[in-house]
Amino acid sequence: MNVILLSVMRSLKGSLFSCFGAIFLINMNVQKELAFLCKDQVVKAIEEIIGSDNVRVNEPMKNHTSFKVGGPADILAIPQSADQLQKLYKFCVTSGIDVFVMGNGSNLIVRDKGLRGIVIKITDKIGSCRVNGEEMEAEAGILLSRLSKIALQNNLTGLEFASGIPGTLGGAVTMNAGAYGSTMSDVVIKTEYLDKNGDTQILEGGEHNFGYRRSIIQLNKGIVVKSLLKLKKGIPEEIKSRMDELNKKRKEAQPLEYPSAGSIFKRPEGHFAGKLIQDCGLKGYSIGGAEVSGKHCGFIINKGGATAKDIINLIEYIQQTVFEKFNVQLETEVKIIGEE
Ligand SMILES: Cc1cc2nc3c(=O)[nH]c(=O)nc-3n(C[C@H](O)[C@H](O)[C@H](O)COP(=O)(O)OP(=O)(O)OC[C@H]3O[C@@H](n4cnc5c(N)ncnc54)[C@H](O)[C@@H]3O)c2cc1C
Repeated sequence: MNVILLSVMRSLKGSLFSCFGAIFLINMNVQKELAFLCKDQVVKAIEEIIGSDNVRVNEPMKNHTSFKVGGPADILAIPQSADQLQKLYKFCVTSGIDVFVMGNGSNLIVRDKGLRGIVIKITDKIGSCRVNGEEMEAEAGILLSRLSKIALQNNLTGLEFASGIPGTLGGAVTMNAGAYGSTMSDVVIKTEYLDKNGDTQILEGGEHNFGYRRSIIQLNKGIVVKSLLKLKKGIPEEIKSRMDELNKKRKEAQPLEYPSAGSIFKRPEGHFAGKLIQDCGLKGYSIGGAEVSGKHCGFIINKGGATAKDIINLIEYIQQTVFEKFNVQLETEVKIIGEE
């Protein structure tokens, strides 16, 4: 039976691996078994590209997000090089498999039923960095903390603002991450990325189309592979002291002792999200394990055992309350993904 179904599937979609997309075509009794068979085949194919140690099946996403929430990803794949990343992504594209690309998971809420298809996690395995004069060329998986440390070691100034942001370079370029008056757009001059077909493309200068917590990469759903940053020569003691000062400020103002995803909301024009939330009397307000931080009302923290649903319910409650009191619509900065 399975053989027949599989050949039907092949003829329908031209590939065994398109089963993720075509599963609705068959009856429920065999669906589970076929889904299993197909998933198994997909896993094998991915293992051939990136190695079996780097593929996880039904992997809880709470292990990969700074909020410590999120249901299972069907498959989580961790490519070990930029070349593997491209091969893996091309395989997914040609097989019609849904892909979600993540970095350090510090700006994500994954819903409790998790993510279907494949999550490609870009880690420091794709995280090399080369310094040439005032320019740094780094791969997407390098953490901003490490990148800014390398800048400091090379007497380069301009990345101090990023040293306390807990994301990868790829996530930061995509989000145009920023703090203390600077953003990635101030330093990124060139980016190599994979387009929706998995082909390599280059962005230069204004082509990044950076805006407040956005870039063309985010809009076009590309995958950042590496970026070129332009910094300036500086005085190491000054660079170090600026980093220390900003990280001290962060520690004082933010609830870093709890799992979170940083600021939940974008800054609404003319206001501060945290202040609006505080002025609604929501400091410390909680739903389940999710709580509005008493230290910084722009943060929701996981006090322990929070589900994604708790956090999302709290987000919606805050949005409604702030809108009713101040007529301001708060928009989330965090990305909410996955199945409810
Ligand atoms: C305690 C704390 C403090 C924070 N402070 C700040 C702050 O000061 N400023 C700030 O801007 N943010 C802050 N953040 C949020 C977060 O760290 C940033 O948004 C960061 O840039 C996300 O990087 P990431 O690698 O974790 O991306 P992820 O959270 O994994 O992903 C975020 C988005 O980027 C996409 N993405 C990730 N990598 C790639 C890639 N290589 N190619 C294409 N798309 C990709 C994902 O698909 C997703 O849409 C904070 C978070 C925490 C937990």
